Amino acid sequence: TRLYLHCLFQNPKEALFATTSVDEALEALVERRVTGFPVIDDDWNLVGVVSDYDLLALDSISEIDEQKHGKVVGDLMTPSPLVVRETTNLEDAARLLLETKYRRLPVVDGDGKLVGIITRGNVVRAALHIKRSSER
Ligand code: AMP
Repeated sequence: TRLYLHCLFQNPKEALFATTSVDEALEALVERRVTGFPVIDDDWNLVGVVSDYDLLALDSISEIDEQKHGKVVGDLMTPSPLVVRETTNLEDAARLLLETKYRRLPVVDGDGKLVGIITRGNVVRAALHIKRSSER
């Protein structure tokens, strides 16, 4: 079966800009209870990924408060991230998540614009859904 990602997208309303302050990024992570965000420009082009891992990489947690001043998401993000397309099948996306150990893969269209994000949780839920419907 070819299972495409379009049934799994989350709406990418939760994206940050490279110019977003680290301060705001920290707040967004905690408030939205996610572990990371895709980073876009004004035209929805995907430019990076930033996760709690990148915030941990600030010299030490106790220095976050000092260091974040003046720092923006663009300073910490991973640029040109690994992405999948809407047409990528679920198995390939799952394999990439497994091999890279990344927790999320942005989903882009043919122009590199962000259309969604797929997480480990999305894949696990989809697998359960498929298992249940095949048992019926
Ligand atoms: P995480 O996926 O939260 O464990 O992130 C671990 C590191 O990988 C961080 O430095 C992220 O910026 C980076 N990262 C996360 N997702 C991706 C991705 N899809 N492509 C490239 N780097 C990524």
